[in-house]
Amino acid sequence: MKIVIHRGINQIGGCITEIATDNTRILIDLGQNLPDGEGTVNDNLASREAIGEITQGIDAIFYTHYHGDHLGLFHYVPDNVPQYIGEVAKQVALCKHQRLSYIKGREELSREEIFKLDKMALLTSGQDVNVGDIKVIPYFVSHSACDAYMFLIEVGEKRILHTGDFRGHGYLSKGLLPTIKKFVLSQGKVDFLITEGTMLSRLNERVISENELQREAGKIMARYKNVFVMCSSTDMERLASFYAANRHTSVRPLVCDLFQKNIFEIFTESAGKHTSLFRFDQAYAFNLKNTKLIDWMEDKGFCMFVRATDKFKDYYQQLISRLEPNDTVLIYSMWKEYINDGGKHAIQRYIEFVSMFPHMEKLHTSGHASPEFLAEVCNLVNPALGIIPIHSEDSASYSKLPIYEDLKLRIFTSSNTISKVEIIIS
Ligand SMILES: [Zn+2]
Ligand SMILES: [Zn+2]
Repeated sequence: MKIVIHRGINQIGGCITEIATDNTRILIDLGQNLPDGEGTVNDNLASREAIGEITQGIDAIFYTHYHGDHLGLFHYVPDNVPQYIGEVAKQVALCKHQRLSYIKGREELSREEIFKLDKMALLTSGQDVNVGDIKVIPYFVSHSACDAYMFLIEVGEKRILHTGDFRGHGYLSKGLLPTIKKFVLSQGKVDFLITEGTMLSRLNERVISENELQREAGKIMARYKNVFVMCSSTDMERLASFYAANRHTSVRPLVCDLFQKNIFEIFTESAGKHTSLFRFDQAYAFNLKNTKLIDWMEDKGFCMFVRATDKFKDYYQQLISRLEPNDTVLIYSMWKEYINDGGKHAIQRYIEFVSMFPHMEKLHTSGHASPEFLAEVCNLVNPALGIIPIHSEDSASYSKLPIYEDLKLRIFTSSNTISKVEIIIS
């Protein structure tokens, strides 16, 4: 057997992992490199030729979730390679690409993306998919994307757990350790743990729970009448935090655009069936002609989800003349480095957008596992042959985690062969 880390050993974006036997080859994720501050993507694999080459002889591709650094290159994949994704994740990705299709000059690309997404096969938590002599079993994880999975991969006697992106402080995190115990470890030992280490280069960040974040949001909403919220439009748990905080603090309308409302409908129809936390059925779609809604917003205040686009800039500028600046705030709920002017992750569009607002409060928690939680997962899984850290700018720091001493000796960040498994790290 071979484990090939095509990308991800020393970068956060663009994850690609291959598992191969003599007869079968699969990929876990086919991510694109993250864009720079100007929005430009530098990725030598972002072409039909490059993806045609890397997917040559690949029997299936499995996506952990819909973030671009895991799913981004899917539309270059030749039609004869089956691609798998979660059912709700597929709906969210389709919704996003349908919206992108309205952008001028993107029609052809969007048609291709929607066609490829439409064809994708579906993953269900706990149900195995067999590809040749490789068995893949997906299990739910909590992440800043909904319907995200880790994969247990079984090849003969060997077992690999690929966690994808995950965290321990979300609403949906409670099931992770019990799932690993009940469904993974009870069936036998894990040989390799391939896991993320995003937070290793972000050690000074405070990781609060989504619950705590919801309470803090409520406090800000109590202080300000007019609340704009900038967060990921597809992060179901974060959206739920603000939605619930708004519902608990006031009778103010919850406002968003039509795209966000469509995403809310997908969440309400899926996760909303299991808990009221994910039922987003009281959201109003904003447009400048809806004077009834705007009068209501002016009178009672509001909670409005915004994104750093020209459209929302326009909405804001039309609204602000009717609002008292001291009653108006933007809650910025994304990674702080995106608006750290001069920092290497700064996004100019975001910096300009947030600077329009009279007041700003930063309120965020990571979509990724804290170092403590990573260590807990490593120690619990205690893989017999080793840990392969990916999705990290600092994979070498993995050994600084509070993990078992003997496990620290089995961390692989360069190519190696162990117990007849060839590990190739590009
Ligand atoms: Zn992600
Ligand atoms: Zn990621």
